Amino acid sequence: MEQTLIPPAEQERELSKAEAEAEMSPLAAASSPQARALRLEIIAVGRKLWERQYVDGNGGNISVRLGERFLLCTPTMMSKRDMEPADICLSDLGGNILAGDRLRTSELLLHLEIYRSSPRARAVVHCHPPNATAFAMTGSVPPIGLISEYETSIGPAALAPYETPGTQAFAETVRPFARDHNTILLSNHGIVCWADTVSHAEWLVETFETYCKTFLIARQIGRPLKFLPPDKIGELLEIKRRQGLPDARMRS
Ligand SMILES: [Zn+2]
Repeated sequence: MEQTLIPPAEQERELSKAEAEAEMSPLAAASSPQARALRLEIIAVGRKLWERQYVDGNGGNISVRLGERFLLCTPTMMSKRDMEPADICLSDLGGNILAGDRLRTSELLLHLEIYRSSPRARAVVHCHPPNATAFAMTGSVPPIGLISEYETSIGPAALAPYETPGTQAFAETVRPFARDHNTILLSNHGIVCWADTVSHAEWLVETFETYCKTFLIARQIGRPLKFLPPDKIGELLEIKRRQGLPDARMRS
């Protein structure tokens, strides 16, 4: 996010908010108005993922930071279409379940690795959209420099090596990439995106899946791809910088 000057009174309010949160019990955090709103957002995004066929069976998972000490995440063994507020788990940053009747997703380790690697990440969505996952099957990422709006929201996606899902080794495959890439292809598996909100992370999934699909269609036209003028890329990166989004090309 971009730096902003916070007036002293506001700073004090932020401090007392942080102090109050530090003392908040897991149960109080789980029943806070913010937690209630975030649960509804997770459920709405889960439905979108299922309706767009980005998840199947019990696949995919979603998490969001709740303050500085807690996370809300989807449970294991549930379709993302059928979740209700009581199904969403509250966890600490060590992945320990503090509230909720169900077991958390086994992929929370992956989410935690992203939160640790990228402080800007406040929400993570993992799923298996068909066109993006086709790239994951081939161990390749789509080329950049073809669609302006794709450049300003995602740009270069990373490709993490294969590891067995649900393991710590799998979670650590994203560590080198999460800071500078909001979209990572997981080899022979699917994708993971992070953003400032759950809805924005789902937008990245949509944008990436559509880009992969459109690229595959363009390849069938039988004409050479026409890339964006290289001297215009800097203007797109400037838009991205203003939005506070990561890009490996802007690494300082
Ligand atoms: Zn998966």
